[in-house]
Amino acid sequence: MESTDWLLDSLIEKTGMSAEKITSLIDKKLSEFPALTRDAALRMLATENGVMPIRRSYHVGDVSEEMNHINLKASIKRKFEPRQINIKGTPSKIINLLLEDQGHTISAVVWDSKKVDYLIENASAGDEISIANAYSKKNKINDGIELHIGSNSAIKLIKTPDSKSENKPLFQRIADVKDDTKIYNLRCLLTRIFTNNLFLVKCDICKKRVVDKCEEHGDKALSKMLFLSCIVDDGLSSIKASFFDKTAKKLLAISAAESIDEKLRDLSFGMYELELVAVPNNFNNTVSLNVKDVKQADYSL
Ligand SMILES: [Zn+2]
Repeated sequence: MESTDWLLDSLIEKTGMSAEKITSLIDKKLSEFPALTRDAALRMLATENGVMPIRRSYHVGDVSEEMNHINLKASIKRKFEPRQINIKGTPSKIINLLLEDQGHTISAVVWDSKKVDYLIENASAGDEISIANAYSKKNKINDGIELHIGSNSAIKLIKTPDSKSENKPLFQRIADVKDDTKIYNLRCLLTRIFTNNLFLVKCDICKKRVVDKCEEHGDKALSKMLFLSCIVDDGLSSIKASFFDKTAKKLLAISAAESIDEKLRDLSFGMYELELVAVPNNFNNTVSLNVKDVKQADYSL
């Protein structure tokens, strides 16, 4: 197993035994303890021979040339463009990183194509990287110490808080809706539609809602606007949500039924799960939602 190769190296170094001798000792252990994995047998053998299966952690500043089994954590100061090179006649992709820790920097070269691809996809400057079982070498061209990360090494990225915030929950909870200067994203079930008053009358000149006619402009510029008052529920709490005009039409369009009446009935009893973009409306100490956009919940994420 790749993860314990370093242990095998340490055993060879420490005991002077050949790899073949160690393999035969592992086989003996396995015959004594058939439930053991090969890895576990190797660990057992290592411990018995004074090779502790605990690897030391280094800082960048500790790394000198020709060291093996280096574990360290550092931040990626710079990620270079990957390069294509030939290793023993085979074209391979490598990537260089400049790592920093406690004010020291070291350049690292990553050889293993899986790790190179992982870093191309995921790493960005500022991320922390945790490295296990790397080795160091002097770069013959510039005389600097380089950290080498190959197929026997392991790496893990630890994202910085900044990049983490992109992964914050997509949806807020109804119970947390209060600030009417904010826009909220909610995922909730439509549990009720009030169907007694489906239209609002508006005067298009003063853009105000009116009852029958505008006090100022009479019935010169009255228009009817679709209005749906609903209750939505996110499983923890419910809230009144108002859909106006285009947003109300968008809500109705979620139902495949033909007429408005059928759509309303379908939506009221269909247990539709919705994603809402809404602003709170505080009125008489009661918060309701003014829905700005609606769509059926999307589970493809
Ligand atoms: Zn008016």
